[in-house]
Amino acid sequence: MTAIQPDILIGQEELRRRVEELGQQISDHYRAIDEMPVLVSVLKGSAIFLADLIRALDIDVRLDFMSISSYGDGSASGVVRIVKDLEESIEGRHVLVVEDIVDTGLTLNYLRRTLGSRQPASLRAVTLLDKAVRRLIPVELEWAGFEIPDVFVLGYGLDHNGIYRNVRYIFATEDITSLVGDPNMYVPALFSSSDGPRPL
Ligand code: 5GP
Repeated sequence: MTAIQPDILIGQEELRRRVEELGQQISDHYRAIDEMPVLVSVLKGSAIFLADLIRALDIDVRLDFMSISSYGDGSASGVVRIVKDLEESIEGRHVLVVEDIVDTGLTLNYLRRTLGSRQPASLRAVTLLDKAVRRLIPVELEWAGFEIPDVFVLGYGLDHNGIYRNVRYIFATEDITSLVGDPNMYVPALFSSSDGPRPL
């Protein structure tokens, strides 16, 4: 049986260059206002982007983490629950939310409301991917790496059933129904097993 090959949407070099640019733009912004931001990373999807972005910043920053999950039936209600909250107070701080992807906008809208109610000095957001065509609610987004079409993407932190976060590029699945039926469908093409080496 031939392994199902992933369809690369954004390659490693393109990711590296764009994250570097975002790092410069964000550094310039906080340097101009002479303030140190607290980066709030929303686990787990943004972890890989965060790791690269923070090293592209040439200003002093702090880091904190949050984890949230949707309530209930998985419908796009926008009702989410904080699974892990920030460790430090953000009152009077300059907060930069770091997201992997903004899709309907419901999650970022919730985060902006929740974090905004804690009296930060400023609240901004950066996302690696912006699926603007899917937006259900307008949400402010100060920086976005790539605007992408309405496709389900995986890799570079983005998962399905916990799989594919450690793929070095972003790939799109044409066939979400097949992926749901077989979450491991790209595994043979992407990862090595005891049967052989990792594919190129
Ligand atoms: P929202 O719809 O609230 O803007 O996004 C909610 C979450 O859905 C994102 O943080 C992300 O975890 C997930 N999501 C949305 N689109 C995609 C996608 O194309 N691929 C993956 N892996 N997750 C997605």
